[in-house]
Amino acid sequence: MKITIGHFYPDLLNLYGDRGNILAIKKRCEWRGIETEVKEFSIDDEVDFSGLDIVFLGGGSDREQLIVCKRLKEIQKDILDYVQDNGVILAVCGGYQLLGHYYQLEKEKIEGLSVLDIYTIAGQKRLIDNVILETDFGSVAGFENHGGRTYIGDHKPLGKVLYGNGNNGEDGQEGVLYRNVFGTYLHGPILPKNPNLTDELIARALTRKYGTAALSPLDDCIEIQAKEYIIERFLKEKS
Ligand code: GLN
Repeated sequence: MKITIGHFYPDLLNLYGDRGNILAIKKRCEWRGIETEVKEFSIDDEVDFSGLDIVFLGGGSDREQLIVCKRLKEIQKDILDYVQDNGVILAVCGGYQLLGHYYQLEKEKIEGLSVLDIYTIAGQKRLIDNVILETDFGSVAGFENHGGRTYIGDHKPLGKVLYGNGNNGEDGQEGVLYRNVFGTYLHGPILPKNPNLTDELIARALTRKYGTAALSPLDDCIEIQAKEYIIERFLKEKS
């Protein structure tokens, strides 16, 4: 079995160690004897989505998002087809915002891909905090740092915020889960901190490709201990 990961524009979208997400997917596959290949795309590269099993878009500054969004618009149809074909995507922060209709800045508008029926508006104050979520896949811990507030309408959120701000600091929701698309504000990077989520992505990619995904259990006791410590620390602080 083999998983091919498409890393989009790592030279432009890579904040707070987002690249660690690729390493987590690779490592957890390798530990189970699943082969991986990472294809890093630069902005001018042609992309054949039929060869990709997981697409990763990291976070970026507003300036970088403005550069990237023009190129993404050119390959919008291919990305929409990939999503409809149940392709797996993990999009973090700036990458997540780009999956929506737009990100409205004070003076400019960053056009998005409209993969998700969501939009983002720049707020006055940045939302910077640790974040704890309750999700369908168990607890998720991460770190957020964003100026944008995202409104997800009827979409299902990735999780309920137990600590932190999430999508907009108002509705207690974080991220979006749509088909096999995971959009989230969480850096950390999110996957090394949350092996449960990493395995969910791997399992979905394998199921789409091979029709089955029996992932052998790994010894995650160190990762789990680290996460439990963070959860306890911040939830205690809140109560
Ligand atoms: N530039 C976006 C914002 O500030 C995304 C930031 C990020 O990716 N961390 O909202």
